[in-house]
Amino acid sequence: MTKKKKTIAIDMDGVLADVETQFELWYERDYGLKIERSARLGVPESEGFPDKGAVRKFVYTPGFFRTIPLMPGAVEAVQQLMEHYEVYVVSAAMEFPQCLSEKREWLDEYFPFIDWRNIIFCGDKSVIDTDYMIDDHCKNLDFCKGKAIMFDAPHNSEKTHHVRVKSWAEVLMLMGRENLIEA
Ligand SMILES: [Mg+2]
Repeated sequence: MTKKKKTIAIDMDGVLADVETQFELWYERDYGLKIERSARLGVPESEGFPDKGAVRKFVYTPGFFRTIPLMPGAVEAVQQLMEHYEVYVVSAAMEFPQCLSEKREWLDEYFPFIDWRNIIFCGDKSVIDTDYMIDDHCKNLDFCKGKAIMFDAPHNSEKTHHVRVKSWAEVLMLMGRENLIEA
């Protein structure tokens, strides 16, 4: 009998999709101002730019989610994880309903190997019951049922109560160890 794979919920924005770079690119494009990431450490996403309404405006603008750059190393890492884990993409997409089709198209472009059954667009993530959750927000990680893994982001830089990974290479190192422990 084959052993059932452990499950991982993987967030999109700030984890698979480099939303911080997208905020910076759009802010520079629209306001002509380059905001350094170091200036946003420990600051909530919506307050990290001089115009405090910019982030909210961007996330409701058609095309924002469809054009977010890929997080470096994400595709290769997810492919590797899928060899040992059942991977689910879990995004609280209902907050911005116009992003649903954009997020699906984005996944089809970069992660066409992820089956639609493994894509969960939802509201409150606390109902997600996977063995692991990789996310950048405490509002999700604090209530997840499995092991929480915090993907590094400027807005979470001062949160220290979750295991932190700074890159997809670190995710692979961590999950490789977990796989050996669970074997
Ligand atoms: Mg996120």
